[in-house]
Amino acid sequence: MTSPRLLRAAAVLAAIVPSTLAAQARPISTREIDGYLRFLSSDLLEGRAPATRGDKLTVEYLASQLHAFGVEPGANGSYLQKVPIDIISADRATMHVEATGKATARLRYPDDVVVWGGSAVPRSAAKAEIVFAGYGAVAPEYQWNDFKGVDVKGKILLVLVNDPPAPAGEPKLFGGRAMTYYGRWPYKFEEAERQGAAGALIVHTTERAGYPWHTVVGSWAKEQRILPRDPRLPAPLGFQGWITDSAATALLRQAGLDLSALRVQAESRNFRPVSTGITLDVAFTNAVSHLESANVVGVVRGSQPKRRDEYVVLSSHWDHLGIGPAVNGDSIYNGALDNASGVANLLAIARVVAQGPAPARSMLFSFVTAEESGLLGSMYFAANPPVPAAAMVADLNMDGGNVLGRTRDLNVLGDTKSSLGPQLAALIRPKGMRITPEEFPERGSFYRSDHFAFARVGVPSVSIGEGSDFEGRPRGWGTQQGEDYTAHRYHQPSDEYRADWDLRGAVQLSNIVLSFARTLAAGAAWPAWNKDAEFQRRAKKPAM
Ligand SMILES: [Zn+2]
Repeated sequence: MTSPRLLRAAAVLAAIVPSTLAAQARPISTREIDGYLRFLSSDLLEGRAPATRGDKLTVEYLASQLHAFGVEPGANGSYLQKVPIDIISADRATMHVEATGKATARLRYPDDVVVWGGSAVPRSAAKAEIVFAGYGAVAPEYQWNDFKGVDVKGKILLVLVNDPPAPAGEPKLFGGRAMTYYGRWPYKFEEAERQGAAGALIVHTTERAGYPWHTVVGSWAKEQRILPRDPRLPAPLGFQGWITDSAATALLRQAGLDLSALRVQAESRNFRPVSTGITLDVAFTNAVSHLESANVVGVVRGSQPKRRDEYVVLSSHWDHLGIGPAVNGDSIYNGALDNASGVANLLAIARVVAQGPAPARSMLFSFVTAEESGLLGSMYFAANPPVPAAAMVADLNMDGGNVLGRTRDLNVLGDTKSSLGPQLAALIRPKGMRITPEEFPERGSFYRSDHFAFARVGVPSVSIGEGSDFEGRPRGWGTQQGEDYTAHRYHQPSDEYRADWDLRGAVQLSNIVLSFARTLAAGAAWPAWNKDAEFQRRAKKPAM
């Protein structure tokens, strides 16, 4: 019970200190989410492709909304953090990939190899001996090092895709069934670069990559969007690429080496790099051009002097695919679910935070660009953060909101990697909700959403989405809806706004992310990575 006198005192105080005591923001409603969603999914934004008119309209809209909410500019005095994007495409007519020495062959592009520049230079080239480097992994948390002090500087590395398989006696090695970052293709090139290699080829098998060779051709034998080379980094690889299993096998056989035997060797901690005596000569020219897009960044300052330089980050990508090949007469890829819905949720959260009682820690709202081009906006943000990465408490990301009604569960990417998972599970448990374990951890989904950009720089991060157990729906309905979306609307012009969506699920999800962010912003605790996670906080321990 509160006495009338206390209430009067509170009212007087509230009049003096308006923001801290009196402010209580209007709750998030389905109508609010619907309003954002309608506009962001509109044909007028032409599918929100980076560096288009739709880009400019979207970022101006987001900045204006943040301004109206009372969210301050979060990127060094501006709402916009400009993101430069390089476009490179290798010229097929100039493509030269030839083996000499212990093996002689002209490798066919793109039938045997697909190679690309990896940085925006007019000509990519490397000529060096091929060294088989197993899985090409240096993973201290698994006491694993495929290089073992062997100098592969200036060599062309031949490496295997995926993680080394976990043996029966060590079922948790490299995450067991789950894929770790060491298994992903970007890691292979990053490690090759750290080792000072001249180039790197990953041996493709459909089974180990999880996709067929024509996906390799479709993804890399074409124009690529990348971030400009960070001048603070050492020299890039001369080229990156994939080679088919049969082409690699044939090359090695000429040199008296058996790829299947090398594969077995590579599954052991005792593996050491194997020289092949084969020289590979790779050269091609690139067409290079440049674009500019922007991340939209806002901040709500923390109320506690000791905590306000610590930031809880919330992120969601605003971009989609733009205008593309027409399907059923429609060429605008609206990306209503992917990801106008996540952005709508984040806008609503930002409004409530700005208008509600100020959190102890600051909150940073990051609407990132070019996710569809390979997480470029979030990677740029993490590499050039407006506040130091060491000051970021956590990143909570949303890619895809919930437009199908309330659920009893959440899908969370990264819940098994840091203390954020158990903390979120504890937060939703009193509501009768749970986190559903990831169904296909071997697919490496954790590494393919924007929260990963934060993980890479050591910030504990998760992507939070609805689960598949919907209130008032039979078992299996949610999964079926998900499969239907993937088959018929994912990355298609039919990912469109619908006035009959059940946005109570969006409100539920927004409120969960909001209250999780508030919990993280209220405390003094720092979420921590699990011991066997590939990522650790940089300030305490350099990552890898
Ligand atoms: Zn997408």
